[in-house]
Amino acid sequence: MKETKTYEELLEELEELSFQLKEANETIHAIRTGQIDALVVETEAGPQLYTLKSADHTYRVLIEKMKEGAVTLGKDGIILYSNSQFASMINIPLAKVIGLPITNFIPDQFKNKFKKITEQGWKSDSKGEIFLKNNHGDLIPFLLSVTSLELDEGAALSIILTDLTLQKENEKQLELKNQQLEEARLAAYKMNEELEDIVEERTKDLLVSREYFKFLADNIPVIIWTSGIDGKLDYVNRRWVEYTGFDVEESKTKQGELLHPDDLERNITEWQTALKEKRKYEGEFRLKRTTDGAYRWHYSQAIPFKDKHGNITAWIGTNIDIDDQKKELEKKDEFISVASHELKTPLTSLKGYIQLMEFQENLSDAAKIYVSKATSSVNKLHHLIDELLDASKIKAGKLKFNKEELNLTELVNLCVENSTYIYPLHQIKKELQDDIIVCGNAERLEQVFMNLINNAVKYSPNRKEIIIRAEKTKDTAIVSVIDFGIGMTKSDEELIFERFYRANGHDSTMPGLGMGLYISSEIIKEHDGEISVRSKLNEGSVFSFSLPLVIAKPKDISK
Ligand code: ADP
Repeated sequence: MKETKTYEELLEELEELSFQLKEANETIHAIRTGQIDALVVETEAGPQLYTLKSADHTYRVLIEKMKEGAVTLGKDGIILYSNSQFASMINIPLAKVIGLPITNFIPDQFKNKFKKITEQGWKSDSKGEIFLKNNHGDLIPFLLSVTSLELDEGAALSIILTDLTLQKENEKQLELKNQQLEEARLAAYKMNEELEDIVEERTKDLLVSREYFKFLADNIPVIIWTSGIDGKLDYVNRRWVEYTGFDVEESKTKQGELLHPDDLERNITEWQTALKEKRKYEGEFRLKRTTDGAYRWHYSQAIPFKDKHGNITAWIGTNIDIDDQKKELEKKDEFISVASHELKTPLTSLKGYIQLMEFQENLSDAAKIYVSKATSSVNKLHHLIDELLDASKIKAGKLKFNKEELNLTELVNLCVENSTYIYPLHQIKKELQDDIIVCGNAERLEQVFMNLINNAVKYSPNRKEIIIRAEKTKDTAIVSVIDFGIGMTKSDEELIFERFYRANGHDSTMPGLGMGLYISSEIIKEHDGEISVRSKLNEGSVFSFSLPLVIAKPKDISK
């Protein structure tokens, strides 16, 4: 297979050939004009010296050694002399060449041009490129260098023929390469133009979406901000600026003037914790309104924005004004607190009178049933009012109680005993470790535990089995109430300990206020413990609370 040369190789070869051509031309010129008398020619046997003027024979040998073809023509165009190089170029034995008209080797289309070159050559030196036809009919490009000679035999025309095939081939290849290069350049140009169009389009899209985002962020009735991973603000929307009176740069240093002094430290700690733990931030604080200096409550949230590797790259936050709702809720709380207080006194006396009636003799059977139903209703009402009062106390920060060392195993055991009387149709199974000692308020812990059992019964209408477990680890007591009832979803699990929250849309289907777990969690918090739930919809729930264990001190043997 023919080896294709690289562009660089072709260029190099062409340069080399042009150089050789130039050198040969110069040599020929020098020989013709008699500028040189002798030549050193590289032969296979080493360098040889040829003297030109002195010996015609030497001159002929030199002509034979040349790479170029050399012919001498008579006036009539007949070849008088040819070197063997020319004979092999046109593929005819040397002996046959001499005596032939040169025009035999010139194709018709070049005859005119040849005529012009030779006519000129008779007058002075001339040059020109034409194609010659060899014996096989192939056309070969040649450079002709023509000059007239005065020989003994008369005037003659000397023609030196340089084969340009390789040069032409190289030129062609070069042209091809140049063409390919041009095509590649055009393709690159087109691609570049397309790329520019795409970039322009994308930039436009980006600009539009940025504008759109800005429009959205500036017109939404919520404060929006973003921060870097260090927690420092780097963007605030228009509402922020309008509300606080500070732009993003000012806000970076004016935190003390933005937040209510009572909320500042707590907020900084909560924000720093979220940043450190790389989790969603949530908080409430009072933010100063620049127009009237009023501090209004805001609910703030910030979520970390992550790249595809899960690394946080920014935080996106919102502050929602909840001041009006908060005030409404406070009014409601106040009303609940007053109402439950006011209700408690007449209810207590009502309960007393019903108890008195219970002890009355000669009550008809019907009256006995009425009294028992009234007692149950009054107890339920009592329970509800107690829950409302507890919730009010929690809100007012007044849910305080005394704590003392107590045996949690015994307390749980007693509650389970009571429950078996209250819920005779349920199988309540106990798995209790002995002597779990904690420091707490027996009445409040019983309230928590009974609330969990009551819920387990209430929310397992079709399953009657409940497991109560009390166990201890190295430093923690854990009490669990396990049921196989309706369970709840994951999202309910997260909200279940909030005030008035009811899962599974229980608002209308099951009686309750959604306060029992809220109160329970506050009571457990007051005990430095934790309450939690693990649940599966339609499979059941496990409610657990943990409390710090009281570790028995080793006896002091020094006494
Ligand atoms: P209440 O039972 O009065 O609604 P709670 O605060 O005790 O209030 O419970 C809040 C909500 O939690 C309930 O409304 C119910 O949706 C859900 N819940 C509590 N315990 C269970 C349980 N064991 N199984 C399923 N859901 C429960």
